Amino acid sequence: MGSMSATRTHCPYCSMQCGVSVNLPRTGPRAATIEPQEDFPTNRGGLCSKGWTATSLLDHPDRLLTPLVRSVPGDRTSALVPATWPEAIGVIVTAIEAAQGHGRDAVGCFGGGGLTNEKAYQLGKFARVALRSAAIDYNGRFCMSSSATAGNRAFGIDRGLPFPLSDIAEAKAVLLVGGNPADTMPPAMQYFDAGRAAGAVHIVVDPRLTSTAAGAALHLAPRPGTDLALANGLLHIAIRDGVIDHDYIAERTSGFDQAAAAVSSFWPDRVERITGVPVAQLRQVVAHLAAAESAMILTARGTEQHRNGTDTAQAWINLALALGLPGRPASGYGTITGQGNGQGGREHGQKADQLPGYRKLDDPAARAHVAAVWGVDPEELPQPGLSAFEMIDRLGTAGGVRALLVFASNIVVSAPDANRVAARLAALDFLMVSDIFLSETAAMADVVLPTAQWAEEEGTMTNLEGRVLHRRRALPPPPGVLDDLQALTAIASGLGRGQYFSDDPRTVFDELRRASAGGIADYAGITYERIDDEQGVFWPCPSTDHPGTPRLFADAFGTPDGRARFLPTEYAEPSEVPSRAFPFVLTTGRTMAQYQSGNQTRRIRALTHTGPTVQMHPDLARRIGVGADDIVAVLTRRGRAHFRAQVDEKIRRDTLFVPFHWGGASSANALTEAALDPHSRMPAFKVCAANAERIGGA
Ligand code: SF4
Repeated sequence: MGSMSATRTHCPYCSMQCGVSVNLPRTGPRAATIEPQEDFPTNRGGLCSKGWTATSLLDHPDRLLTPLVRSVPGDRTSALVPATWPEAIGVIVTAIEAAQGHGRDAVGCFGGGGLTNEKAYQLGKFARVALRSAAIDYNGRFCMSSSATAGNRAFGIDRGLPFPLSDIAEAKAVLLVGGNPADTMPPAMQYFDAGRAAGAVHIVVDPRLTSTAAGAALHLAPRPGTDLALANGLLHIAIRDGVIDHDYIAERTSGFDQAAAAVSSFWPDRVERITGVPVAQLRQVVAHLAAAESAMILTARGTEQHRNGTDTAQAWINLALALGLPGRPASGYGTITGQGNGQGGREHGQKADQLPGYRKLDDPAARAHVAAVWGVDPEELPQPGLSAFEMIDRLGTAGGVRALLVFASNIVVSAPDANRVAARLAALDFLMVSDIFLSETAAMADVVLPTAQWAEEEGTMTNLEGRVLHRRRALPPPPGVLDDLQALTAIASGLGRGQYFSDDPRTVFDELRRASAGGIADYAGITYERIDDEQGVFWPCPSTDHPGTPRLFADAFGTPDGRARFLPTEYAEPSEVPSRAFPFVLTTGRTMAQYQSGNQTRRIRALTHTGPTVQMHPDLARRIGVGADDIVAVLTRRGRAHFRAQVDEKIRRDTLFVPFHWGGASSANALTEAALDPHSRMPAFKVCAANAERIGGA
């Protein structure tokens, strides 16, 4: 490249983890540019606007370049002022030791689905070995935990897509439920587009006519929160019409009779009454899926973020199994992960109930295996702790966490019922946040640590297909900025446990490989060199001479008997339904230009052309006297937030949609409800009762 150095790495944002090349002029080390890798097998030269502008994060003027501490220790109304790393680590260690006076579980960690596998692994180990605390969970609990739980129950393995993205282009029918990749991960659309161009029938289920739905052959717009009834209704029709695959059910599954009994009362007209989807459309969907020589059902957050999200994902799995899809070529069930390391982030131990390799923390054999790798007594390892929101909701209470260490997560924007979350954070004795910018959560902290970001770090990420990728360092972090592995090692050393930790990513990854060996997510055979040579390696990969596993379930499922499990699924109304005071349904989601809590993308000028909006149908807008671009207050039982009105016919007449990328006065999560799914403990972000009123003109 002459005067440039080019490093092949991956976009910092979503689970596509598009392959990019970061080009660094030798004359100006921080004036980096980015371009897509034409030959990378997922994005194949594609990038979205977020990826194209990602290098703006590296030299952004808001970048944190030094640790910050309170000018008056313990007083969060005092200013955050620069400190040295030894000073900041000293404050953190002192606060941890003080909180441990209330018991080891009084110190907690909160991780993120954007952390590399090495960091996620190290954070889980840090909580169990350095803090010896049960209190650790992460923001992935808000993101994909319901379909992960359902996948584990049904298939014995949770891998978002059990096949490569390219299989989507081969499927003759695709049913996509509650996902909008055309806006959230545009490079993935090349596979959908190729399938459609080849004559495949695509069906999208979404209360909005999204960009993805607009290109589909059929769009179903159910009332938010009724997907389980919809899936049960489709299975009912498939059974009644005699299009289920009896041989597959007999040879490869268990539990069909109970699942069939559970859908026997989901007559099409009843399902139409519950969901609002016309019977004719229900019949069309079943006919398309049954007639196709290959078909897949894909789900995303829209179907999962409900108080019955796990059972809803299971209902879609039941339909896929009844039609004989999982394990067949260009067919099956998959779920589209959102966060950059949404897949790897839930495999290596930062979940409350989990050890590396997707092992269970309450399994004696798993504890013994991992304890041996870590060089500790299995008896020392804590038992499973509380899930993310349950931990947050007890912060600062008797028996709850009193000192919280947050990595790569902006909880006060991304957790449900944000005002309640802010109150709980304020009740802590001590809060530490590691981030690249001063997020809304970091602004509440006692100590803020500046951390290295994507192009400045070495490590691995696992994309939505289960393909393990190498995040390569293109340039060093700015002076004064350390990596989270270094910060964790320094804190552990301050606690007298530093001997258990390394801050070298390769050393940590090699340890992760040993800890995961023999587990569900087995990385034992994956090395940085293999990833580089093979453009990523799919887990499970139990040995260095194993080719990796792009496609799961061709011969057997991951359950003890090798059969996939049907489970009966019962429908219940959402915990909040419209009332006189709150006559509409509120749902939340993403927009193309922003990512997650917006802590990064809101700072990039090229991405700020869209602000916080509330989408509503013209009929609803007329009913409340709102015109396009008016300022509207949206109200729920928990809070109130302001948005600019986006009035169009691409949404149900009873539904309001707000994106969740903003905090403060436009916080979508000030409105959402923290009703938790009983199995995954995922909150019901996607549905609550709301009202709206005009508060200002355009
Ligand atoms: Fe980055 Fe995702 Fe956009 Fe690809 S699709 S460029 S990974 S944000």
